[in-house]
Amino acid sequence: MAGTGDYDALDYAVSLEYRSASKDMAGTTTLKARATQPLSRFALDFGGGTVDKVTVDGQQARFETREEKLYVSPHRLARGAEFTVTVDYRVTRDNGPEGHGPWREIEDGFAISPQTHQTMHHVFPCKNDIADKATFTITVTAPARLTGVANGDLVETTPLAGDRAARKYRMVHPMPAADGQIAVGPYSRLTHEGPDGVTMRDVVPTAQVGQLRETLARTDDQLRWQTARLGPYPFGTYGIFAPLGAVGPYESQTMSTIDAATLASGPADYVRAHELNHQWFGASVTPKTLADDWLAEGHAHFYGAWYEADLAHPGSAEAFADSMRMFYGMDQNLRDTEGPPAAPKPISGQIQRAGGALALYALRQTVGPQLFEKVERAVVGRFKDGVLSTADYLKTAREVSGRDVTALLTDWLYAKKTPPMPGHPDWKSDAAPA
Ligand SMILES: [Zn+2]
Repeated sequence: MAGTGDYDALDYAVSLEYRSASKDMAGTTTLKARATQPLSRFALDFGGGTVDKVTVDGQQARFETREEKLYVSPHRLARGAEFTVTVDYRVTRDNGPEGHGPWREIEDGFAISPQTHQTMHHVFPCKNDIADKATFTITVTAPARLTGVANGDLVETTPLAGDRAARKYRMVHPMPAADGQIAVGPYSRLTHEGPDGVTMRDVVPTAQVGQLRETLARTDDQLRWQTARLGPYPFGTYGIFAPLGAVGPYESQTMSTIDAATLASGPADYVRAHELNHQWFGASVTPKTLADDWLAEGHAHFYGAWYEADLAHPGSAEAFADSMRMFYGMDQNLRDTEGPPAAPKPISGQIQRAGGALALYALRQTVGPQLFEKVERAVVGRFKDGVLSTADYLKTAREVSGRDVTALLTDWLYAKKTPPMPGHPDWKSDAAPA
């Protein structure tokens, strides 16, 4: 899938070897890619590990690692040539002095929190570019009493000598490397057939299967609620990964990571609806750049807040409006401190979520619920398995609604001042205290 840079990543095969009582893991990454210009040198992102060997199309290649990059000098590749690069490496699960790494340790195992700092390249060499999506096969080898976990479908479990097992997962829909999940621990996989034939797959601590079963059963209804508004679920599998330890919440393709303690302590309806929505906006349709992140976070917040309001007061437009009014009240303060939703300051996060949701709500208020739903379904249909920019969203909204909503959305997405909410002239938003 097209991205920036001098090659397109097409398909990854990643394997990692976990051993109890050791923080070191051996790994192999094989990337199939296509050169978009003649190449005598290219780079993968890789931090925090040691590279032992690199081959390109089966031939040993010279390489060099510097500042979280792995530079590879292959035999010369022509523009358009497909090539396969294989990297044998070792990583240590160490988050560094500032704790910015992706590793989350448990007593016997680990999980990954890749989105905190886009650090999946600390786990395996990859092209760390959210716009360059590729298909994945991830194989996790671990002691047989533990379960190796990754997103996608479990396609093979191979028993190995020394009481070990390799579990191979396949993700047939392209995904950015940063959106993967890999984990090992004392987990059980629970599967059943869900709405519209989607395979529902949860991965939970084996000791908590009984305790979590009832809350996990809510996911089927959550999926039905979202498909009623957005159309078919974009993948074949969905479920929650509930790791031990404090991890998440965040989404990865086909899998929402919400830690077991959070799930056990309450229904977590908003969080679950928010993360589930990311399968449409985030995973299937991926924001093209960080400035477009409101398209993922704004949608997830919009549908999460709507779902929560709808559970408490089914079908009530007022309950949803009340929730949006609360965020409207905070919007000016957020714009002052974090910038507008589609041009945020580097350290931000709230404005994409709450401000992005308000922009969508303003669009819905302007064109009406039916046309709004038509716009949303068109976006998830047209940009499925691809990337979406703010300009793409505006263009689709204009075309599908037949209304010139450019000025309205531009104001909501880029203005320093919170715009008035269509249909709610009485809503007020306070500036940040001076
Ligand atoms: Zn989110």
